[in-house]
Amino acid sequence: MKYVEEFRDGDTARVLAKEIQRIAEALDRPADRPIHIMEVCGGHTHSIFRYGLEGMLPKSVELVHGPGCPVCVLPMGRVDDCVSIAEREGVIFTTFGDAMRVPGSRKSLLQAKADGADVRMVYSPMDALTIARRHPEREVVFFGLGFETTMPSTALTILQAERLGVQNFSVFCNHITIVPTIKAILDSPDIRLDGFLGPGHVSMVIGVKPYEFVARFYKKPMVVAGFEPLDILQSIWMVMKQLVEARCEIENQYARVAPEQGNDAALRAVDHVYELREFFEWRGLGSIDHSGVRLREEYARFDAERKFAVPNLKIADPKSCQCGEVLKGAIKPWQCKVFGTACTPHTPLGALMVSSEGACAAYYQYGVFPKREAAE
Ligand code: SF4
Repeated sequence: MKYVEEFRDGDTARVLAKEIQRIAEALDRPADRPIHIMEVCGGHTHSIFRYGLEGMLPKSVELVHGPGCPVCVLPMGRVDDCVSIAEREGVIFTTFGDAMRVPGSRKSLLQAKADGADVRMVYSPMDALTIARRHPEREVVFFGLGFETTMPSTALTILQAERLGVQNFSVFCNHITIVPTIKAILDSPDIRLDGFLGPGHVSMVIGVKPYEFVARFYKKPMVVAGFEPLDILQSIWMVMKQLVEARCEIENQYARVAPEQGNDAALRAVDHVYELREFFEWRGLGSIDHSGVRLREEYARFDAERKFAVPNLKIADPKSCQCGEVLKGAIKPWQCKVFGTACTPHTPLGALMVSSEGACAAYYQYGVFPKREAAE
């Protein structure tokens, strides 16, 4: 296939849905034990709701929305740290747009901007570096956020800043890694999963090999998936096919974009600039070992965490928030007590309602909540 319309063809989608149905019948799961397939990536969650794919699946196949939206898993304490840096005299704080509205315990970056902090939205870390070169009298901080997908561009910007001798640029590094996160989910006692749709964007950088432990040690199938509706349906079908054939393998449906071995240049830049943190705090999931990176000692002068003393406090989510249970797939967004009432995209209590990749925002924007209506 060559054109995007071909990846959205309704007739082919119906054929795939029928095949999924056929395998589901062959697997013959009891009604109280449906097949649970987790899509790790927030981009998949968004596509699933945008194209109504959940409605094409049989009742015995349930999609579980995982923690692959980096904005959603940012803990409140880190947002507070951003605000504290942004509110310093002389600082220009730069960030991707979807992080602006994530609630901290005091305020979001957007509220800090309304209160007078110089917070600017950028499309890439290179934009932030350009701002730093234009304003040598100011300290420009870039909010480095995201999985391995965005890690390389931040790393390359730091290398560029070094080459150019820029002194007033630094990164508040909140980059996170996917493999320990998947492992933490698999080790969690309250989640029962049958297989995974692997993250397509992250796999463009790291390749497919790092997921081998999922099949080898946890005996679960995984299919790295693209983001168009047929990509996702085909990947679900591939997972189901493995289940019915009693296979556990890592397959790559998205090979047209995600090479088996990853992107060598990007991986070299990542390795050069970052080292693993011993642990990193995730919103709703707690602390996960080796799940985040920081800048290596050689790049300490570009590290906002070392340049500015940040409060670095652990802040618990509001009691009514059930973001953690949604992130682990233990409940559906509409089962959260405040979904659609106290928590909406206009008044988000949790980060999952902020980003377009957040499961709660996707349910709110596209969902019709049939199960909730049925229960009422
Ligand atoms: S509805 Fe709001 S508080 Fe509840 S899980 Fe979703 S984002 Fe979190």
